[in-house]
Amino acid sequence: MSLYIRIQDISDHKSFHHSGEVPLANMEDLVTLAGKQTGCADFDLQLSRSEEIIFLKGAIEGKINLDCDRCLERFEHCFEESFSLTLSPVVPQQSLAKDQVLSSEDLEVGFYQGESIGLLQILEEQVVLGIPMKRICSETCKGFCSQCGINLNLKACICLPPDQLDHPFSDLRR
Ligand SMILES: [Zn+2]
Ligand SMILES: [Zn+2]
Repeated sequence: MSLYIRIQDISDHKSFHHSGEVPLANMEDLVTLAGKQTGCADFDLQLSRSEEIIFLKGAIEGKINLDCDRCLERFEHCFEESFSLTLSPVVPQQSLAKDQVLSSEDLEVGFYQGESIGLLQILEEQVVLGIPMKRICSETCKGFCSQCGINLNLKACICLPPDQLDHPFSDLRR
């Protein structure tokens, strides 16, 4: 299965369907942002063309590995992103650098260059969008004790909550 689609395979009047899976370990930006990845994401694309303009509608889903912000353990996060894009050819005299092509802030419009569309970058952008702001392994994750540093998901400790620490005799008052 290919991560490239030849423009000539997309017919002018009939939409073109392409689906498959992409190894997440191949997504360099994702690995930079979220560390080592295993497994694949499944994607499903529908492409159509009007002369040189390509319309792409798609979805991608899978599991990414993240570090929990609270307990620092690795955990799997399921993501599912739907997107639609309009791709126009790069006009030669604009001579955009390759990196500029898809890093435009507004991902709804993109560019392609040459005879084919590379899917990896397009799909990776979507997976990166699927990284949650808060990376938490579970709503109930207790994280670390701020005093003894123990992972409270694994073990309990006997430290007092910080607000009680200010009172040296809090034990005596009970
Ligand atoms: Zn956690
Ligand atoms: Zn503790």
